[in-house]
Amino acid sequence: MKIPLHNVNWSKALIQNLPEGIVTIDKDGQILFFNNCAERISGWSNIEAIGRSINDVFPLSTGNGKLLEQLSTTAASLPPVNILTRAGKEINLAIKATDLELPESAARETVLLIRDVTMEDAALRLRSYFLANISHEFRTPLSALKASVELLLEGLQDFKLDETRELVNSIHFSVTALQTLIDNLLESVSIEAGRFRIRRHMTGLKKLVTEAAQLMKPLLERRNQKLVVSIPNNLPKVNVDPMRITQVLTNLISNASKYGPIDQPIELALSMKKDNWIKVSVSDHGSGITEEDKSVIFHRFVRATENDKPQYGIGLGLSVVKAIIESHGGAVGVESRPGGGSVFWFTIPVEEP
Ligand code: ADP
Repeated sequence: MKIPLHNVNWSKALIQNLPEGIVTIDKDGQILFFNNCAERISGWSNIEAIGRSINDVFPLSTGNGKLLEQLSTTAASLPPVNILTRAGKEINLAIKATDLELPESAARETVLLIRDVTMEDAALRLRSYFLANISHEFRTPLSALKASVELLLEGLQDFKLDETRELVNSIHFSVTALQTLIDNLLESVSIEAGRFRIRRHMTGLKKLVTEAAQLMKPLLERRNQKLVVSIPNNLPKVNVDPMRITQVLTNLISNASKYGPIDQPIELALSMKKDNWIKVSVSDHGSGITEEDKSVIFHRFVRATENDKPQYGIGLGLSVVKAIIESHGGAVGVESRPGGGSVFWFTIPVEEP
């Protein structure tokens, strides 16, 4: 069937502008056609790519193999491959290959349908990281809870007051860890779904600091860390969601405890800033945060590499802190502490009376 001329142009425009990369190659892997999306994915222009080998335009970033070998040894669709763009950036591509039947030529051509799945791949890895860690996060406090409750049930009559108190403290500790985890998970889900709302009341921050300190008591006692609080007199009330600000404070105190050394104090200070802001900072004596990590640790599921191994956690707390504070019109940040450690801070605007 002969296609009318305007339809040929239409087909060409369609193929050029498809949102997936379309590349055709001859039997030796030489590029014959290269659409706009293939240009965007690879960084090579159409003029540069045509006539070159597919192996040069899509070099594999790992191993010594070549893309053409993989195309010829595998069935129509390859598992995603890592390649380097012209600018040297590693990206992940899903490639489907199909032989083209050309009515007027005997030469074999293969069409490659190319999709950049770098982001999908990262999201999948994030998901499996999350699933692998979340079960551990639940299991650890639950096992501790179970063990303490079983001990209490078995020996309730025989235990001395001190022993009973120790077991109840351990239960309190595990319940606090579970509560923080569940609160962060719920907040994170509602932030992602765009359902996150705050309910503001005029509140004194001193009350919230006291509540957060009370909640974190079992955690701090376990690591023998004193919480040193400094609050100036006459601090004005702020229009905030009290539960959410308490959650911010508990996250920051729990991190300071987790990543700070045993037996060392944690300082929590409130101060009034010019232009009607209250600044709250939580300082520890831990290993601190590298310059590189400072910009990423407020993202979801990100954990600083240095601290990753020894401590439990899934990298949600700080992303929740940031979302809560920003929805109050404030800002969050972290600074290195002279002499070691970090200072996590946030600001809350004070409304004119
Ligand atoms: P989690 O503690 O569950 O990993 P967070 O979102 O609360 O998640 O923190 C993200 C990362 O930031 C942590 O994994 C840790 O590497 C780093 N971090 C947070 N607070 C501190 C701190 N006070 N000192 C050192 N590193 C910290």
